[in-house]
Amino acid sequence: MADGRLIIISAPSGGGKTSVIRYLMERHPDMVHSISATTRPARPGGADAGYYEMVDEPAFRDGVRDGAFAEWAEVHGFLYGTPRGPLDRWLDEGRDVIADVDVVGGESLKRAYGDRAISIFLLPPSMEALGTRLARRGTDSEEVRGVRLRNAAREVACQDRYDHRVVNDDLDRACAEIERILYGGGCGHGHGYGVREGGKP
Ligand code: 5GP
Repeated sequence: MADGRLIIISAPSGGGKTSVIRYLMERHPDMVHSISATTRPARPGGADAGYYEMVDEPAFRDGVRDGAFAEWAEVHGFLYGTPRGPLDRWLDEGRDVIADVDVVGGESLKRAYGDRAISIFLLPPSMEALGTRLARRGTDSEEVRGVRLRNAAREVACQDRYDHRVVNDDLDRACAEIERILYGGGCGHGHGYGVREGGKP
């Protein structure tokens, strides 16, 4: 059985990452999403279920000290980390794992997992479009949105560190492009051409 691949997806807040991930998970039932630990307060309405485990800062710091995270970073003023145990187990089981992480986490994971990792940066069509999407999403206060927009420019500046960059001008088109990157055109479960090399397009 082939080893699973670590699919690293980064994008600024409001970049459409959640929709892309949902699309991929629906089409590939074997794919799993790494559930991050975070110190960020939970969003109302259970929006974080299946994506995050909320922990307090002392517990997070204990995890860092004990090597429980494959990577961790401070993002928008809170701590986020990818639990190492489930990630390695899934990869060993041959499952593809999606890690939705910021640019610091993306770089750490790529460094740690090498050829087993394929990294994709999802770009907004423009910064204006990003601001509009963030406002429409309505999950964050104006102040939080401001922080996220300021960080977005910094994150977009790191796009060249990724194996692939995909512009999310249209969700269906962007998803199809990512499918091609991962599966080489078809929507089967095989591992596509070129992907393991992780080369830039
Ligand atoms: P949000 O709080 O909006 O869900 O996520 C904020 C940012 O944290 C996003 O850029 C997201 O990709 C990033 N993030 C989520 N989980 C992790 C993680 O486990 N590690 C790192 N480094 N970043 C994460």
